Amino acid sequence: MVAIAYEDIVKAPKALLHDHLDGGLRPATIIELAAEVGHPLPETTADQLAGWFVSACDSGSLERYIATFEHTVAVMQTESALRRVATECALDLADDGVVYAEVRFAPEQHLNRGLTLEQVVEAVLAGFADGSERAAAAGRPIRIGTLLTAMRHAARSQEIAELAVRFRDTGVVGFDIAGAEAGFPPTRHLDAFEYLQRENFHFTIHAGEAFGLPSIWQAIQWCGADRLGHGVRIVDDVTGGVLGRLAAYVRDKRIPLELCPSSNVQTGAAPSIAEHPIGLLRDLRFRVTVNTDNRLMSGTSMSREMALLVEAFGYGWAEMQWFTINAMKSAFIPFDERLAIINEVIKPAYAKLL
Ligand SMILES: [Zn+2]
Repeated sequence: MVAIAYEDIVKAPKALLHDHLDGGLRPATIIELAAEVGHPLPETTADQLAGWFVSACDSGSLERYIATFEHTVAVMQTESALRRVATECALDLADDGVVYAEVRFAPEQHLNRGLTLEQVVEAVLAGFADGSERAAAAGRPIRIGTLLTAMRHAARSQEIAELAVRFRDTGVVGFDIAGAEAGFPPTRHLDAFEYLQRENFHFTIHAGEAFGLPSIWQAIQWCGADRLGHGVRIVDDVTGGVLGRLAAYVRDKRIPLELCPSSNVQTGAAPSIAEHPIGLLRDLRFRVTVNTDNRLMSGTSMSREMALLVEAFGYGWAEMQWFTINAMKSAFIPFDERLAIINEVIKPAYAKLL
């Protein structure tokens, strides 16, 4: 196999379904915004701060990993800060060759300085629009769909689900719940999921990351999730290549797995990239997608995640195209728009590479 150059991975179109807005800020932006609001940071230069996030998140604990968000969320409490962070997110993803991204955030975490839930959503959507416009002008078009997240330990999921539906025609394409999994099963939020199903809306659920099969089973069979945020622990239901009933259901129904290799290694959900279950799940042809989760905390990007997999598993352009088309097929935007990106953007680009 011919080795793939990193610059070529950057140029190839990629699709991203699982990326947190508050996990992808530029370190220099955090420093500037923190100075404006007087928020103390653990480091003072952009490089040091970038290193601090990655090492704090390398602890192997999902709880400690989540604790680092205190610093990003603290600087995302005004309309201008939210709009700037969203603009830069769109620009950074487009620069990395991402042509379609679903970026998620929890509006309820941005109310500390008096914004309403609606103002938070409007500011982020405006930022994505600005960033997408600038990226297109620079010859790097990107389409961004927004997911609204509710925190699984809180009690606002119904309200956030209704908020997501209110913004469905202006950029919000889905709903999610996130936060520490242990002790907070998705069935706590059943009302919200049932409401979303009645509204014919789409949602994904963080499940099967730190916690195993019961969480995945609840997310799918009780809550009706369209996709699994992570879902990596579905491998616990695969023994010697033989699928248990839940794993078989997930594969048969083509339920997308939003796998996040680097993030999983940091939180201890996988021992290393080379030992990450993505290799097995791909061989078994689950609907596998590759994602960044939190670019800042993992010091990563879509291109870097692909490059790590190319290195660990010997993947080439065929596998990268497969992951990319899987993600695009699993997106929450309308079918005709997904098809247009697959046929007009992704396939022609990979045809030149294959
Ligand atoms: Zn996540």
